[in-house]
Amino acid sequence: MDGPSGTGKSTVSRRLAVACDAAYLDTGAMYRALTLAVLRAGLDGEAPGSTEVALDAVAAVRSVTDPRAPALLLGDEDVEPEIRGPQVTRAVSAVSALAEVRAALVERQRQLIATAVDESGGIVVEGRDIGSVVVPDAPLKVYLTASDEIRAARRAAQDRKAGRDSDPGTVLADVRRRDRLDSTRKVSPLHAASDALVLDTDGLSVDAVLERLLELVAE
Ligand code: C5P
Repeated sequence: MDGPSGTGKSTVSRRLAVACDAAYLDTGAMYRALTLAVLRAGLDGEAPGSTEVALDAVAAVRSVTDPRAPALLLGDEDVEPEIRGPQVTRAVSAVSALAEVRAALVERQRQLIATAVDESGGIVVEGRDIGSVVVPDAPLKVYLTASDEIRAARRAAQDRKAGRDSDPGTVLADVRRRDRLDSTRKVSPLHAASDALVLDTDGLSVDAVLERLLELVAE
């Protein structure tokens, strides 16, 4: 499941995994955890030294792939909800544009996916480059889209639910900024894999998207 932020990817991916009795991996959370490590080191993803700190953090990132209780640990520390906060959100595109960091994290993701498929029989993986880079031979690839305004409104609602202040104008600007950075970076820029099914979620409820995905899984 690929696509930009605010398309409902996380919600539908988790629900799809539960419905299919599969594991679930949120690769965005992994990039966010590396970004948190970089920020804690007093860096920002662009400053020299960011790559080394992020690479060290790759070894410390642990993803719990149970869709009913997904979690992201750095070492033994549960770093939710800190990784969802505005500082991490602002810096994550810079960290995820670092070529060596992506190469190391993609390797980690492939190992996790292989283990989860062995143990659970299947996995729903969400991110930006899953169909194009991480699992190019995935049996089903979906790329979710929605208009900028709808995505920003969904993000703002999520922020409010999580108890974070959120100004709709700022959220829209952030969504557009991240889209631009994520889709213009040199390594694995955000785009739909040529064989992905593109699903526009404007005007579709989460239930409607899930229903369509379950049909696709059954095909
Ligand atoms: O999905 P989420 O908004 O949490 O992702 C945070 C950021 O992580 C994205 O804006 C993008 O820069 C990066 N990312 C990525 N590749 C992925 C998943 C996320 O570059 N597979």
